[in-house]
Amino acid sequence: MLIVITLFLATALSVTLVKLFNHRQAVRSLHQALVKKQPFLREELPGLSGHNWDELCSLSNDLIVEVSHLQQLRNGQLAQLEATLGSLQEAVLIVDSNNYILLANKALKSIFPRAINILGQRLELVLHSVSFLNYVESVRRGTAQPQHEIEFIDGPISTWVEVTGTSIETINSQKAPWTLFVLHNITQQKKLEAVRRDFVANVSHELRTPLSVIKGYVETLVDGAEDIPASDRARFLKTIQRHTERLNSLLEDLLVLSRLESINPGLSREPTDLNAFLESIMDDYRGRPAGKEHILDFTPDTAIGCLQVDPLKLTQVLENLLDNALKYTPKGSKIELSAHPKGSTEVIVCVRDNGPGIPEADLPHVFERFYRVDKGRSREKGGTGLGLSIVKHIINLHAGRVWVESKQGQGTSFFFSLPLVTGVSTA
Ligand code: ADP
Repeated sequence: MLIVITLFLATALSVTLVKLFNHRQAVRSLHQALVKKQPFLREELPGLSGHNWDELCSLSNDLIVEVSHLQQLRNGQLAQLEATLGSLQEAVLIVDSNNYILLANKALKSIFPRAINILGQRLELVLHSVSFLNYVESVRRGTAQPQHEIEFIDGPISTWVEVTGTSIETINSQKAPWTLFVLHNITQQKKLEAVRRDFVANVSHELRTPLSVIKGYVETLVDGAEDIPASDRARFLKTIQRHTERLNSLLEDLLVLSRLESINPGLSREPTDLNAFLESIMDDYRGRPAGKEHILDFTPDTAIGCLQVDPLKLTQVLENLLDNALKYTPKGSKIELSAHPKGSTEVIVCVRDNGPGIPEADLPHVFERFYRVDKGRSREKGGTGLGLSIVKHIINLHAGRVWVESKQGQGTSFFFSLPLVTGVSTA
């Protein structure tokens, strides 16, 4: 009897153990399938039977298929979103409620090239601008202006950006809303605005001086017409004439500059024998009173032939350089004009004088509009401060370069290059 009971218990125990083992196997397979998100076959779970197991397998498989489908959909949408944002000209930035960067498109990296691997970083560590952080807060509070201009300073680099910010609900609406920013780089626009402001201020300043002188003398002449001695009247009129001429040259230079800076300034290129052209300009200067007080030198270089240039504009260039050489050097100074080919691609023209020279610190600025090394001397000589700027524009139009070398006390050399346009004989 005891043996029968023992046998029965042993059999029951072994059946239970086998079941337990099968269940463990099944749970493990189920776990792996869920981890891999791969549906599995009921047959992969041998030794299991019963309606509950069938139902569990089928529900798990349905769940796995649905999750995979949703993930594919999400990946597709993310890829689509990234591609859309990536192709936008405007930079897009999304931060969460703690200022952690969730999304930044390609355009943002082009505005801030130093901002690399910024996803997941805090905003304040990436974009250093207190104004921007204040703007982020005001967008969150709902008190921000729709558009805001902000300057980002990173060492010597200043970047101006127009920002538009808005709060966006998260998918899980229980989380605090995110904030989306669209940023537009307006640095160039800001620079142009500053240049325009400076230009208007400079022009007004340049006009004011001669105009107030003219006004003063005219008023004196009108008020005291009877009592002013003839000699004083003549002196006053001469001063008025000088300042009128100054106004006239200023307006002429401004007109030339505005034409050169227009969208289509136009060049009338024609084959020009450079040696003959330079010789005729030098001859013209030798005949002028100021030219007679200086030594003017030009030796043609037979290696140069015809160049495709705009002779009228090139005359303006040489006149500005030669006028300066005459204006800023004492009587008896030597002014040399030369032109030599450089390689097979360009000709270098040089106007050299042995005058007082230009201080090193001023050299990088002399081609800027209204820049004068010695303001008093330039005005006294009827300078407008625009001559070298005109030179630079015309040479740039010819696809050439312009530069200056000078040593104080030894003289100044202005150089410009003219490319040899193919199809024109140079011998
Ligand atoms: P400006 O009408 O005053 O001559 P420019 O643009 O032609 O204006 O020249 C800018 C400045 O460069 C001048 O005011 C002058 O101080 C300096 N400069 C130009 N050429 C010479 C030169 N050959 N020698 C010395 N200084 C010069």
